[in-house]
Amino acid sequence: MATRALEDRFDRLSVNDEHDDGRLYQKSKVTTTTTQLPHSTSRPNLFKVALQSKQTTSTVTTVALPSQQAQWKGSNPSSPGKKEKSSTSSSGPRSSDGLALTTERKSASYVDQPLAPKQFHLGMFEIGRPLGKGKFGRVYLARERSSNFICALKVLYKSELQHGTGVEKQVRREIEIQSNLRHPNILKLYGHFHDSKRIFLILEFAGKGELYKHLRKENRFPEWKAAQYIAQMTSALRYLHRKHVIHRDIKPENILMGIHGEIKISDFGWSVHAPNNRRATLCGTLDYLPPEMIKSGSKDNWYNEKVDLWSLGVLTYEFLVGEAPFEDTPIMTQKRIARADMTVPEWVSKEAKDLIKRLLVLDPDKRIPLEEVQNHPWIIKHCVKGERATNREKLPSR
Ligand code: ATP
Ligand code: MG
Repeated sequence: MATRALEDRFDRLSVNDEHDDGRLYQKSKVTTTTTQLPHSTSRPNLFKVALQSKQTTSTVTTVALPSQQAQWKGSNPSSPGKKEKSSTSSSGPRSSDGLALTTERKSASYVDQPLAPKQFHLGMFEIGRPLGKGKFGRVYLARERSSNFICALKVLYKSELQHGTGVEKQVRREIEIQSNLRHPNILKLYGHFHDSKRIFLILEFAGKGELYKHLRKENRFPEWKAAQYIAQMTSALRYLHRKHVIHRDIKPENILMGIHGEIKISDFGWSVHAPNNRRATLCGTLDYLPPEMIKSGSKDNWYNEKVDLWSLGVLTYEFLVGEAPFEDTPIMTQKRIARADMTVPEWVSKEAKDLIKRLLVLDPDKRIPLEEVQNHPWIIKHCVKGERATNREKLPSR
């Protein structure tokens, strides 16, 4: 009975409920039995192998920000709150909310799942207001009852997934890849479960929503803010590339923001294990496509993780200018990308211009590596150790 009511609410909920007061709907006792997604148990885990084999020795540079994960205060020894603490240096998630560039050694421990080995089902969650609607998913604010943990629950209807070719594969890939990533600037996927009609993804709640909306509202970001976002993106991309994951779909629409204004890369539906020696397939928005992915027909149109460097250059440009560098008619955009034909407005600082030009290089091997991006004068100038982005807002403009 109670289960039925909860499910009915899901069916009725529409993302147009904007007048929602944000309170979580209360539900007392709900029982649902579900089984795990068939692929979750037999997850091939190429990934875990990659994680385990690399972790003990790798030195990780992260832009560490506090996370809402600090709210996991339960007794679970592998709670993300604890993990987060171990991944930041001086500032624990609750003691400080400063942005700190930290370099430290990681142990192999973060392969653990925050809620593992729990089996999730819908009855374990109170469902709150709708957060948004994607191509295939509807996303709701939710609270896990036993821990009071706030998260985002993405609901995918199986019937809708079957319409698009390869969409199911995309979702499976998203789950496999995202659930094995642990980084403060990558949206966490805590787990998943399904019932007869739907697949549910339990995601980290990004309290400030889409970066895209902030960019549209502000038109363009001041240089200090753009630099701090790019530093966080760079840190997240370094982490991904070390795990041999190429994101392939970096753009403002796929970046969410945490409650402290920190970046959370999401949407791993297009990401792949590197290197990818197959022919490039067109995916993602044209504006962000690198030249090696639009060269159709030629023999050498395979690509590697350096596609993300190109997109990082496009992103830097869009943050500072307010529009993408190759924005034009679709045909012209492709032509201009193939020639790296763009101009940075003269009011952009020379340091920022230099970084954009070093990222938007036709030859993937000649693009500035991520480690060098982190030490680029533009990043160094604006990302002071221990200083946080919001503090800058209070200072007179520079
Ligand atoms: P796609 O189907 O291509 O992924 P999308 O990214 O728009 O499209 P979703 O990822 O399903 O779709 O998300 C829909 C919207 O819900 C997002 O644009 C965002 O506004 C909101 N949203 C999604 N995930 C979260 C989250 N973890 N925290 C807060 N809001 C979220
Ligand atoms: Mg999305």
